[in-house]
Amino acid sequence: MDFELTDEERAIRDTARQFITREVMPLEQEALLRERRHEPGLDHSELRELQQKAKKFGFWGLSTPEEYGGMNLPAVLQSLIWTEVGRTFVQFKFGGEADNILYYANDQQKAEFLIPTIEGDRISCFAITEPGAGSDAANIKLSARPDGDDWILNGEKTFITNGNDADFVIVVAVTDREKGVRGGGTTAFLVDRAMGWRSEFIQTMGEGGPASLIFEDVRVPARNILGEIGQGFELGMKWIGKGRYLIPSNALGIAERALGMAVDYANTRETFGRKIGENQAIQWMIADSEVEIEAARWLILRAAWTVDQGWDPRHSSSMAKLFGARMVNDVVDRVMQIHGGMGYTRELPIERWYRQVRLMRIYEGTDEMQRLIISRDLLRGYTKIGGHLA
Ligand SMILES: Cc1cc2nc3c(=O)[nH]c(=O)nc-3n(C[C@H](O)[C@H](O)[C@H](O)COP(=O)(O)OP(=O)(O)OC[C@H]3O[C@@H](n4cnc5c(N)ncnc54)[C@H](O)[C@@H]3O)c2cc1C
Repeated sequence: MDFELTDEERAIRDTARQFITREVMPLEQEALLRERRHEPGLDHSELRELQQKAKKFGFWGLSTPEEYGGMNLPAVLQSLIWTEVGRTFVQFKFGGEADNILYYANDQQKAEFLIPTIEGDRISCFAITEPGAGSDAANIKLSARPDGDDWILNGEKTFITNGNDADFVIVVAVTDREKGVRGGGTTAFLVDRAMGWRSEFIQTMGEGGPASLIFEDVRVPARNILGEIGQGFELGMKWIGKGRYLIPSNALGIAERALGMAVDYANTRETFGRKIGENQAIQWMIADSEVEIEAARWLILRAAWTVDQGWDPRHSSSMAKLFGARMVNDVVDRVMQIHGGMGYTRELPIERWYRQVRLMRIYEGTDEMQRLIISRDLLRGYTKIGGHLA
């Protein structure tokens, strides 16, 4: 058994770490100040500039196939890099990426949607959730009915990340009520904002925020169908599946950075004439955090490795998402506790992380949905206890 990174993995991981440390972390104080004024910590043009700089470091399109100018990295390497990105709370991500399901586009759609998204010239969002259908995504109602060569879309999507900024949306609509959502009754459409949908910003406890998208008789030409008619729900599940190992990878970076801050603070802050780190109460919080971080690391890397083996990653990704999201919430909570009143202030990023990581237990499948998937796999005999080593 080999738990070591290869030389290549270590070199790429270290270069990503260097980039984040040298180019992104110095922007943190300014980002915090701006966010306190309810402005984005990093605006779109600054993000693009940083992404171009990262491109010179060799980071462009981590998951993007080489024919589109990307790196097409294995999932393990993508996971390692997302962990590095997680170390900074500046809302940075490497450029050259597009939603995984945009590769189902035909040649004309690739030119119109996929390539400009990879280049950063257009912003996409993905919409399946509705006011009446979140965890129960099969209950979506937004409808598309044919009208000549067009389709007419009516309904509402909600909680859509980037929904207020996006130039176009990949929206899953019901096209055949008889067949039902799981029976091939849904279709994904590529819909430009100019076609008439509107967005309404939703205030959340996090920085930035998702949006509701409202479709009232939005006319979409049939050439904007993504993939096949009837394939919408399947594509939606593919989109969601991707995040299930990347979200906890990101969480790992947050938890490591936050715990590092707690260790430093415990070694310097004095009460009752000695360092707080000399108290067992503080030591236990540090120890529990370290153990949970380490446990999460291996669940996440195994999920990514499962993807690289070409195996079905759903079970291992759900375990990584469930544990990783819980872990980062518990770690950040302890890190705040160790910092006492300072942890609660906006002088430090801890309260920001506290708000940010809470989302990880909710979106792209709640904790409860991950538990449902994990237990169902065992109860129905799809997976063995012990996974691939069983
Ligand atoms: C900031 C943010 C960004 C998001 N971005 C996107 C996006 O880009 N695109 C998109 O389509 N969606 C997005 N979402 C939606 C997100 O995926 C949903 O909010 C999530 O899936 C939960 O759905 P819900 O909010 O309707 O909760 P509900 O499904 O109503 O669940 C409410 C509670 O009941 C629990 N529950 C539900 N059913 C069961 C059950 N059978 N057994 C046990 N417990 C159950 C849930 O776990 C939860 O705790 C985003 C959400 C947020 C908050």
